[in-house]
Amino acid sequence: MVGYARVCNDCLSKDIRLGSYNFLKSYLFRFKGDLQQANLKLVLKKDEIDMVDYVIGAIGLDDTDSPYGMCTTYLGALIIEKIHKIVDFIDYPYLVRLNPNVPFKTRGNASVKIQFRVKSEAINMLIDSVLDLFREKTHSGFPKTQPAVSFYFGREPPEKTVLGFVYKKALRDVLTVNEAFRYAEYVRGAVLRIYASKKDSRGIIGSLAALGAGFNTWTYELIAYRKEENFGKKRSIDFDSVLRMDELYRDLTFANIDGTRVLITPQGPDPVLFGIRGFVPEKLLEAAKIVRGEKPSMWVIFKTNQGTNAHISNIECVSKARPYQSVRFRMQVSGFDEFHNKVVLKGTNCGWYVYVNIYKPHGRLRVLAKKLIVGDELEVAGAVLGRYDNSIEINLEEFKIVSLMPLINYGNPLCPRCGSTLKSKGSNMYKCKKCGYALKGKKKIIILEERRNLPLNCRLLPPPKSWRHLTKPPNFREELIEKAKKPTTPIFGYDL
Ligand code: ATP
Repeated sequence: MVGYARVCNDCLSKDIRLGSYNFLKSYLFRFKGDLQQANLKLVLKKDEIDMVDYVIGAIGLDDTDSPYGMCTTYLGALIIEKIHKIVDFIDYPYLVRLNPNVPFKTRGNASVKIQFRVKSEAINMLIDSVLDLFREKTHSGFPKTQPAVSFYFGREPPEKTVLGFVYKKALRDVLTVNEAFRYAEYVRGAVLRIYASKKDSRGIIGSLAALGAGFNTWTYELIAYRKEENFGKKRSIDFDSVLRMDELYRDLTFANIDGTRVLITPQGPDPVLFGIRGFVPEKLLEAAKIVRGEKPSMWVIFKTNQGTNAHISNIECVSKARPYQSVRFRMQVSGFDEFHNKVVLKGTNCGWYVYVNIYKPHGRLRVLAKKLIVGDELEVAGAVLGRYDNSIEINLEEFKIVSLMPLINYGNPLCPRCGSTLKSKGSNMYKCKKCGYALKGKKKIIILEERRNLPLNCRLLPPPKSWRHLTKPPNFREELIEKAKKPTTPIFGYDL
C-alpha cells in the first residue's frame, strides 16, 4: 500500500516485489504508460427545462485518478480555469468526501462539484469543453478507474432535488450504480446528463452524489497543485515553513503536522503539492503564502464536508448498523483482549456483543482502552467491519468515556466514637488507637474510590496522522467557520 494504493492479487502474482512499500512507491512514480484514454458515452440524458436566460449549473466529477496519478480535485481545478470566463461561480467548488469505508476508493473517496450561474445558450458549449478536458486527463486506462461526469442545469440547485438523497446515502452507506441511476431518473424540470466510460461505471455514483451534496456544516481546503513538469518527482516543501505556518494559524487550521510528520503534503504521485485545511478561506490564503518550496502551478479553495464527522450516524442499538457504515453508539465495557497488532475492547449494547478494534496507529487510545474496566460506559464511533447474529465488529474512529465504575477497595471500619480508622487487634477484634474503643468481629468495609486516571466526557481521538478526511478535529467550533453565502476570496489563483 502507498497512500491508499493497494496491490491486487493478480498484479502481486505477476511481480511479488510489488508487495514491498518502497518498491511499489518507486514503481508508481516511475510508471510512464498511457492511462489517459477516456472513452465517454452519454449514459443518461434528461432535458426537461423551459429555457430561461440564466440557469443554475453544476458539474459533478468522480473516479478520475489511478494509483499512478491524477486527482479528481485537480481535474476540477482545470475545469474551473477553463470555464471561469463563461460562468459566474455562485459558491466555492465543493470537495465532497463520500463514505470512507467503501472498498473501491483509491485514496480518500473524494468527488467534486462545481456550481455556477450560466446563460442557457452556453450550456452545450460548456458541456463540450468540459468533456474535452475530462477525456484528456482522466486515468481511465487503469482497469479500476471508472470515471463519470454529470451535468445539471435547472432553476433550483441540484441538492434540492432527489440528488440530495444520493449524496446522503453515498456519504453514510453503499449504493449500486443502478440505485444511483434510479434516483437520477426522478430529477424533474432540469437538464441532467451523465457521461461515463460505460453505463455501469462506478464513478456515476460519486458524480451524482457530488451534484446532490449540500452541507449542514463545512470547512475549507486550499489545495495548491504542482507544475506538470514536476509530476512524479519528489515534492520539495520546506519543513520549517510548515512549522511556522502551523504555529501562526493553528487555531484556524487543522491537520497540518503531527510531531515531525508534515500532513499537508500527500505521499503519492498525484498532482497535489499541498493542501491546508481550515475554517476561513482568507486565512487559508494567508497560511499558504507562508509555505516555502516548490512553486505551485495554481491553487483552488474548496468548501468541503471534511473535518465535520458528517459520515457518522448516531444509533441507539448496534443491531441497526450495517457493514461499511460509520456509527456512534453507547456501550458498556466488559473487558479487552490484546493481540500482537491490536487491542480489542469488548462490551455490550442493547443485548448485543460489541468488539472494537484499536490498532497501533490509534496511539494512546490503546493505552486508555486498557485502563477501562467492567461496567464503564462509553460512546464509541467507528466503522462497521462485520455484523453477525448478535455481535458486531467495529474499527474505532474515536470514543468518549461517559461514566466510570468506582474502584472497589476493602478497609477497616471507622471508630463509631471518634471517627478514626480502627486497627486490627488479635484474630477477632478492631481497636481504636486514639480513643481506645474496641469492636468485636473482623468484617471489612467496602470503600468506593473515584477513578481519576481517565478523562471523562471529552472526545478521545487518534493522532492527526491517523485521522480520516472526515474526522472532526478537536479545534472545530461552528462559530469559527466562514458562513458567507458568496465566496469571500477568489476561488482560484496562480501565485501564492
Ligand atoms: P481521489 O480521492 O483521488 O479522488 P478516491 O479515493 O476518491 O480518489 P475514486 O477513484 O473516486 O477514489 O473511487 C471511489 C469510487 O467509489 C468512485 O467510483 C465512487 O463513485 C464510488 N463510491 C463512492 N462512494 C460510494 C458509495 N457510498 N457507494 C458505492 N460507491 C461509492
